[in-house]
Amino acid sequence: MCDDGKMETNGGGSVTEIGGLSIMTWNINGLRSFQNFPEIVRNLKADIICFQETKVTRDMLPEPSAIIPGYTSYYTFTRNGTAYSGVATYVKNSCTPVAAEDGLTGYLSKPGCEIGGTRLINQEFTQEELKSLDSEGRCVITKHKLNIEENKQDKKIQHLILINVYCPRADPEREDRKEFKLKFYKALDIRANTLAEEGNHVIVLGDVNTSHRELDHCDPYDEFHDHPGRRFLDHFLNIDNESSSQERKHSVQKSSETSISDGWQCERVNIKENQFHDAFRIIHGSRSQAFTCWNTKMNCRSTNYGTRIDYILISHLMKQYLKDCDIHADILGSDHCPVTANFNLKIIPGQKPPPSATKFYPEFQGRQLNLKDMLATSSQKATVPVNTTTNATKRPLQSSTLAPPAAKKSKQAPTKITNFFTSKKQDVNINVEVVKTATEEIVHNENNSVQENDVTQTIMEEVSLVRKENKAAWGKLFKAPKPVPLCAGHQEECVKRKVTKKGPNQGREFYCCARGEGRADDPNARCNFFKWAVIR
Ligand code: ZN
Repeated sequence: MCDDGKMETNGGGSVTEIGGLSIMTWNINGLRSFQNFPEIVRNLKADIICFQETKVTRDMLPEPSAIIPGYTSYYTFTRNGTAYSGVATYVKNSCTPVAAEDGLTGYLSKPGCEIGGTRLINQEFTQEELKSLDSEGRCVITKHKLNIEENKQDKKIQHLILINVYCPRADPEREDRKEFKLKFYKALDIRANTLAEEGNHVIVLGDVNTSHRELDHCDPYDEFHDHPGRRFLDHFLNIDNESSSQERKHSVQKSSETSISDGWQCERVNIKENQFHDAFRIIHGSRSQAFTCWNTKMNCRSTNYGTRIDYILISHLMKQYLKDCDIHADILGSDHCPVTANFNLKIIPGQKPPPSATKFYPEFQGRQLNLKDMLATSSQKATVPVNTTTNATKRPLQSSTLAPPAAKKSKQAPTKITNFFTSKKQDVNINVEVVKTATEEIVHNENNSVQENDVTQTIMEEVSLVRKENKAAWGKLFKAPKPVPLCAGHQEECVKRKVTKKGPNQGREFYCCARGEGRADDPNARCNFFKWAVIR
């Protein structure tokens, strides 16, 4: 709904809308990983939802996901047919756009459907460059008609333009990708600013693939500011009302250090700087630990060791309408979490959806949902996966395949290996010296990192076996699968990983703490336990 109100989480992790114009961005890391995507969209509640990394080609897009009753959707796909990147904007019928464009530069827009603001971008880039920038399915732009009250200073502004964007991630080893990323940021800078200057309210939202300030990064490295994405954001954003003057000075100083030789400027056009605002920082000031993306392979969500790279960036005159902006780290399902913003704005829905709406795709024609299909769809249950842990830093998620549950405690009180053998001496008809030697051998072979309890437990299990077998069985016994070691810091079962880095150890397996990477001073974060799985 577009009436006045507020959006907040309902404690269950999904988003409850109580009115206002609510807008959401979420990098979903693959649409097909969601069991019932239409129900997810409905549960997210927002009036306009901008997804990135749908990872579908047009022929892979399931009709029930594309055409959801009550919404229209607008997709872009990679032009080379691979299921990579891809963004999609879903709009409730109460906010139907008056125009929608595939791509960032206008190169792909159909005659009569243009949104405008392309004059300068056409000066800066060649047609070949524009084509290349829009070949990877990284942007959808929608234009919505606004109902601005007569008494507002911006009553002449008729439209809201949403630029749903998935900015490229640069492979540091590939010079061509770094250049592509830089050009993409320049194109975004030019288009968003031109659209605002032409008299529109503009929102740029999505996965920007750069965290702006040190505050937005769990581990701001040396030369943090010497990064094309950061220089773009420094140029694009105005942080006057968002941070302490000290941090601002620091940021400006850092920027100017690098901008002398390698500043942010376009080759052929001049773009005004600092015209947009980071909605999250307007509302939350310098709140720290506010991240939207985590390395889930390294279990970093459990320790909230992440980055804030998903943004809702609003043009200057939009500030007066911003009511709320938040990060929803409790909504799972991707390595990113959704970000929402709520505005005191009303949209007048378009009479009919723009021609690029998925509902007009010829492949979906004649197979439109009838009432029966609609009822069938809405009766299927699906919820947004939610992290039930309220404080993400408290405990690692156990659901991850890389995070096995903590080792079960032995029912018996911890027993020293020597005690064990002393007490069992009479019961077990074996040569204690043999066992002792064998145990020492394990401990030695395991590089002294197997915990005592662990060895004790293994030995106990194996002793019962031994009762049935003769001494000759010992040789075989110690070839049984090795136990998963416990990490030194938490006494929890380790995970086995492989060395991926090129070198003499590539492919070699090792054990390390199963917990997520985190700050050095975080006791809940991964400890530095390390052990080769096989000693060479
Ligand atoms: Zn540990």
